[in-house]
Amino acid sequence: MSDIRVTVWNEYQDEQKREEVAKVYPNGLHVAIADFLNREGGIKAKCSVITDPDQGFGEEILDSTDVMVYWAHMLHHIVEDKFAQRLVDRVQRGMGIVFLHSAHRSKAFCRLLGTSGRLSWREAEERCRVWAVNPQHPIAAGVPLQFAIDCEEMYSEPFGIPNPDDTVFISWFQGGNVFRSGVTFHREFGKIFYFQPGHETYPNYFNKDIQRVIINAVKWAVPAVRIPDTECPNDTEPLEKLN
Ligand code: ZN
Repeated sequence: MSDIRVTVWNEYQDEQKREEVAKVYPNGLHVAIADFLNREGGIKAKCSVITDPDQGFGEEILDSTDVMVYWAHMLHHIVEDKFAQRLVDRVQRGMGIVFLHSAHRSKAFCRLLGTSGRLSWREAEERCRVWAVNPQHPIAAGVPLQFAIDCEEMYSEPFGIPNPDDTVFISWFQGGNVFRSGVTFHREFGKIFYFQPGHETYPNYFNKDIQRVIINAVKWAVPAVRIPDTECPNDTEPLEKLN
């Protein structure tokens, strides 16, 4: 089987502008994520960022992407509508996508799900416990039934998403809030996974359990088919003799 081709997309702005982020991810979140994906056999991850041509969403990049991993935070509004639509189109035609953390407000996430992605949040250095509530799901393979994260940004229900195909993880936060932190969807021919951990000032993408979830999600989201376009052909030749 050929390697799964992953593109990790990131804004890559905070890491260059805020010392507290650069301290944790000196080369950018995208590089930290691509590094652990590349250490896993059978995955070949590359990166693109918002300052690249076509904001990192060039057709040639997407042509060679089986699964996109998408991290975004402050610049959702800067991503041009045509590129958000391009991602929607790609997912509908089979590309997998893993949205991380604050990507819940990205244009592509909201358009794919048809909802706002709203939630409430708090930055208070909170302890968090991630529970695998669907431990038989392939994305939970090799992940403990629950694991603790020392610090994570709190995200709380109600989460503005449609009912997921599967809720794989639910997180509890020290302040008492809970959140559906790992959820799956299908949109046409493409698979979608959202996973909550990954605030930019905490080193959580170095956490082995979080890495395992993202690796599993990439493997799960591999396209079963790739549809070349979204045309509706007029299939005029009947297969049987017509009366
Ligand atoms: Zn955050």
